Amino acid sequence: MPGLPQPILRVAVPSPLRRSFDYLPPPDYDGRPLAAGLRVEVPFGRGRAVGVLVQLAERPAVAPERLKRALQILDREPELPPDILELARWASNYYHHPLGEVLATAMPEALRRGKPAAGRGERIWRLTASGRTAAADQLRGAPRQAAVLALLHRHPDGLDMETLRRQPGDWRGALRALSARGWVETGVRRAVHTPAPEPQPVRPTLNTDQRLAVDGVLGALGRFDTFLLYGVTGSGKTEVYLRLIEAALARGQQALVLVPEIGLTPQLVARFQRRLGTTLAVLHSHLSEGERLDAWTAAREGHARVVIGTRSAVFTPLHRPGLLIVDEEHDLSYKQQDGLRYSARDLAVIRGRALAVPVLLASATPSLESLYNAEQQRYRLLQLPERAGAAVHPHMELLDVRSRPMEDGLSEPLLSRIARHLARDGQVLLFLNRRGFAPTLLCHDCGWIAECHRCDAHMTLHHGRQRLRCHHCGAERPVDPACPACGSVDLRPVGQGTERMEAALRRHFPDSGVVRIDRDSTRRKGSMEAKLDSVRRGEARILVGTQMLAKGHHFPDVTLVALVDTDQGLFSADFRASERMAQLVLQVAGRAGRADKPGEVVIQTHHPHHPLLQLLTGQDYLQVARAALQERQEAGLPPYSNLALLRAEAPDPQAPAAFLEEAAALAAARAPAGVEWFGPVPAPMERRQGRYRAQLLLQAPRRADLHRLLAPWVAELEQARCGRKVRWSLDVDPLDMM
Ligand code: ADP
Ligand code: ZN
Ligand code: ZN
Repeated sequence: MPGLPQPILRVAVPSPLRRSFDYLPPPDYDGRPLAAGLRVEVPFGRGRAVGVLVQLAERPAVAPERLKRALQILDREPELPPDILELARWASNYYHHPLGEVLATAMPEALRRGKPAAGRGERIWRLTASGRTAAADQLRGAPRQAAVLALLHRHPDGLDMETLRRQPGDWRGALRALSARGWVETGVRRAVHTPAPEPQPVRPTLNTDQRLAVDGVLGALGRFDTFLLYGVTGSGKTEVYLRLIEAALARGQQALVLVPEIGLTPQLVARFQRRLGTTLAVLHSHLSEGERLDAWTAAREGHARVVIGTRSAVFTPLHRPGLLIVDEEHDLSYKQQDGLRYSARDLAVIRGRALAVPVLLASATPSLESLYNAEQQRYRLLQLPERAGAAVHPHMELLDVRSRPMEDGLSEPLLSRIARHLARDGQVLLFLNRRGFAPTLLCHDCGWIAECHRCDAHMTLHHGRQRLRCHHCGAERPVDPACPACGSVDLRPVGQGTERMEAALRRHFPDSGVVRIDRDSTRRKGSMEAKLDSVRRGEARILVGTQMLAKGHHFPDVTLVALVDTDQGLFSADFRASERMAQLVLQVAGRAGRADKPGEVVIQTHHPHHPLLQLLTGQDYLQVARAALQERQEAGLPPYSNLALLRAEAPDPQAPAAFLEEAAALAAARAPAGVEWFGPVPAPMERRQGRYRAQLLLQAPRRADLHRLLAPWVAELEQARCGRKVRWSLDVDPLDMM
């Protein structure tokens, strides 16, 4: 169409550059109206990229002769609705991160890669009705078929290609043979659950506190307000969510529920499914591309009335949003630690404001930030101080282990306590936040310690596989047969990990059945569920595990919870350590006595008089939090100030500091009053994965001052020459100072 004015497409492209790029419409453009939110494929650098149209411009930002044509417009209708574009813009400004990358984070992988938006689900194989009743002895001459049949029996929901590909031998041939017998069929798995027509379970009558909480939020449906629900473990918070979601559904609206990564269990989904009896979309990081796109589309089109998801689900478009809920709002998994370092909890509040819907943040151990916001009247505080139903608070006690004999980290009084609970038919949960057999391998003759070659860290001994593994970079090697420094063969594991604890408990209680739950023991799909089932069925009476056990699980028969070793949390240099410790201890303690059996919690410690431990035994989280807030205020730390952390890393040990020195000089040249900076200093773990790391911390009592510096400063850093020798990133509101 020569002569006609052509719109200029301003496109956000996923790239580290903090700007958008202008293009002419593609050659086959038919003149139809274009809207922001359309995906566009464009030439970029030497390749092509999928970007998002963010604006139509009249005049290009570059010389017209340098303008290139877009390759194609991928959608007829914008995939990203205006409110998601707006949220992405907000995040881009607040986190000082390129808009194209924010939008890429917000989109499901399939859309990011330019695929068409119609979801298709994932292909799976499953048993037919005759396959389910087929007897394996009909397959005596066909061991491969028998093995695949047995595998399918263990996976009633079907097997995806990824799992099948891991099977040894000719599984394809076996599947073909089985399907010729009419025993298996292919199907599609979707991350969208449509309800089975089941009678709805009886809803418990709300207690007074729950009623007040529910009424409080109900009064805000249809407008924006933020609520902080502080409810002790087992107080019936989930029941409160369910009532509120029912109310939103009754108004014809949708609800979005964010849960922590390890809180999104099949039981939770089943509970929501049973109670709400409506179509549910589930979004988490283990979905296949197709499943994720399905769930996302169902939410956007409004077919899924309730969306449950982990962190990135905060970006899920909703057709008729009515309510946003963030469960366990203090959980660290809401903060992304790479790329766009956003807090999904904070974005949920921003999104609720833009959508004019209420936001409910909830936790048994709220973050100090949220409690502070409640104190400042920005959030409305709702409280559930008592456990729901018949359950009562567990009794908590410090076990002074100073100068007591310890074997594999277990003291004599703890062992006899375990024996007592087992004898009374209770179950026992032991918590130790360190996986592997032992955190160090030491030469008893010369003092040599096995270290990671790429990190400033010790290697952890994993006994089961007889290997040393670095928990920071994943490096792995066989255990040294002899000390590389002196040749001695007297190498000893020092310290306790969950593997060692499991072995010790099996020795002490050979008849009780011990189950270990940590990242190593639950790597295989379904193994976590299998382990939890054996606990629920009562076969395993002792549970050992890391913080994977701390959240969400309901073990009605656990009467004793023991925290084996939490002392290191008392002496960390991180100013958030005491908050984290209090949250962890109370969350773990909350697993005890959840039903009608009273619970007991013991904490083994060498510091029984430590003020934090003393406070914790009162189990009054608000009291602990108030003390911690007081300290933060005196030190001028968040939430009484705002932080941004500039990190840099490089294989060259000098480069990060050189870059950060330049960054500090640039900050000095333009920092408004009220902004201070500290460093550069080496990161607490200076070398990691073979790269040296350093950081510069910026702090300001007023958020606006900090952001007034950050925007132009980051633009300058992009241009800085020594910035090319390092990998750098900015973390606004950092939670992890490593
Ligand atoms: P939370 O989410 O705070 O840990 P849940 O909502 O899971 O608590 O409730 C804990 C247990 O108490 C569940 O078994 C739940 O069914 C039960 N429960 C919740 N509210 C009530 C109530 N009002 N009356 C009786 N039981 C309740
Ligand atoms: Zn040695
Ligand atoms: Zn390492």
